[in-house]
Amino acid sequence: SAQIEIGNVGKVYGTAGDGAVIALDGVSLTIARGEFVSLLGPSGCGKSTLLNILAGFQPATTGRILQDGHPITGPDPSRTVVFQDYALFGWMTVQKNVEFGLKAKGVGRAERAERARALIDTVRLTGFEDKYPHEISGGMKQRAAIARALAPDPDILLMDEPFGALDAQTRVLLQEEIARISSEAGKTVVFVTHGIEEAVFLADRVVVMSPRPGRIREEVLVPLPRP
Ligand code: ADP
Ligand code: ADP
Repeated sequence: SAQIEIGNVGKVYGTAGDGAVIALDGVSLTIARGEFVSLLGPSGCGKSTLLNILAGFQPATTGRILQDGHPITGPDPSRTVVFQDYALFGWMTVQKNVEFGLKAKGVGRAERAERARALIDTVRLTGFEDKYPHEISGGMKQRAAIARALAPDPDILLMDEPFGALDAQTRVLLQEEIARISSEAGKTVVFVTHGIEEAVFLADRVVVMSPRPGRIREEVLVPLPRP
């Protein structure tokens, strides 16, 4: 059954007529529980806008957006986001960054520490718990950010060009990791990218957006089994 229903969503930045930008124009999309969907398209086609609306960071101008039948009205721990620039807290260790997502859910200290350690193991960062973000590589920072996003046990993982800042070799490693983690955890994933190879490698379904004016061009089911 549908976990996310995006119905005829439009997004306009600014005021109509006065330099307004149409970022999304009548986008409709249904995403099933556990599905891995890539949003693919060139820079400026509205991918991040759609992801931010899904996250609840900003409202749609028109249309509706439902999660399990309920309107998305703001951020919620049932949906977490991994950003291109990691967005880790620089003053917190890897361990504390991962625990942060659990604090918000009211998980007690001992259980927080234990669950964070397990997640750090999942992303293969064991041994680096006490490092600060500036002490570790880009790939490791993104591993930590993925662990932090998984910490609240979200239903939906939203990823915005998560590997865009990494070198090619690290990117391939992280792609393999996210394929493994998402299938093990059975999360619904919406993955924004402008890389066609990455989109096809990871996703059950690739949603291709057209550059202007922010529409879906086509949806492609990926026929090959995932690694
Ligand atoms: P993508 O993620 O595919 O690169 P975006 O969603 O970031 O696309 O942008 C879609 C369009 O909306 C672009 O024309 C962009 O310049 C514009 N846009 C994005 N964010 C804003 C904003 N905060 N204010 C005004 N225009 C914006
Ligand atoms: P990835 O994190 O995707 O495995 P990286 O190129 O980021 O790839 O790192 C490769 C390995 O190099 C890491 O797993 C780690 O063992 C080591 N490494 C990188 N940066 C550091 C660092 N600042 N301190 C200690 N070890 C590091």
